[in-house]
Amino acid sequence: MGKPLDLVVLVKQVPDSGADRVLRESNFTVDREASDSVVNEMDEYAIEEALRLKGEHGGTVALLTMGPEQAVTSIRKALQMGADAAVHVTDAALAGSCAVKTSEVLAAALGTLQWDLVLCGAESTDGQLCVIPAMLAQRLDVAALTGARQLTIADADSTGERVGTIQRQTETGYQTIQASLPAVVSVWDTINEPHYPTFRDIMAAKSKPVSTLRLADLGIDAAEVGFFGATSVVTSVVPRPPRGAGVVIDAGADAGAKLVEFLASRKLV
Ligand SMILES: Cc1cc2nc3c(=O)[nH]c(=O)nc-3n(C[C@H](O)[C@H](O)[C@H](O)COP(=O)(O)OP(=O)(O)OC[C@H]3O[C@@H](n4cnc5c(N)ncnc54)[C@H](O)[C@@H]3O)c2cc1C
Repeated sequence: MGKPLDLVVLVKQVPDSGADRVLRESNFTVDREASDSVVNEMDEYAIEEALRLKGEHGGTVALLTMGPEQAVTSIRKALQMGADAAVHVTDAALAGSCAVKTSEVLAAALGTLQWDLVLCGAESTDGQLCVIPAMLAQRLDVAALTGARQLTIADADSTGERVGTIQRQTETGYQTIQASLPAVVSVWDTINEPHYPTFRDIMAAKSKPVSTLRLADLGIDAAEVGFFGATSVVTSVVPRPPRGAGVVIDAGADAGAKLVEFLASRKLV
């Protein structure tokens, strides 16, 4: 086993995507009281991958969340998977933060931690912007290995550098991308199969350390984040049109022809 790895996994609390998500009329932000909050699905795959790497190389797995006070419930849930500790960046002034500012705050929080690799989901199920991994890597001045379906970390070579290699799926096939550590890696749900926590993991998670960071701890001015510092604001929302009944093709001699016609009309064939 080579030099142990210090791994940090970004974990976002999101409204349960299985429930109706509600935006507040007043400022078009997610009404987190209106539906249950859960750990962002893609982040569970990132946690599982971090635990696998810890098993392979040794080291530590810490979770990092920026979110309201109540996000601690999702942090505890995520800790049940087996991570060692968590950091919760929470401050009332963060409400309404855009992706640019979220990446600034997360980068500042990472500046207080020891890490060789930051893992995260490729996408959140609420904002769905798929930008935080790249923004973060830019701010941290490290490589971004995004959209991984496979990840390997090679032990340090003669130069002492450790190299991360990912494989990602593209429309035309697969790409293999490599970068020296430290780096940011985002993963899709094809990278592994998250395990269910055991009763022992669930009990152990209750006493794992969760430290809290405020904006003042990070030297970030409250007026620079949240609604006040947002680089983009939602100006209006329109409800999604109700799903249409859909087209029914009865089984009959011409069913095949009708199906092709339907697919062709939508340029699917
Ligand atoms: C419905 C909706 C629309 C929005 N529209 C915009 C918009 O147009 N422009 C804009 O700038 N912002 C927008 N936001 C805010 C934006 O979602 C947040 O700033 C968010 O934190 C970053 O965007 P994301 O979750 O879509 O990131 P993504 O890039 O999709 O997230 C990728 C990964 O980054 C990590 N991550 C993201 N946020 C956090 C967090 N708070 N704590 C820890 N890890 C995190 C997770 O691992 C996640 O899997 C919107 C939010 C919502 C709910």
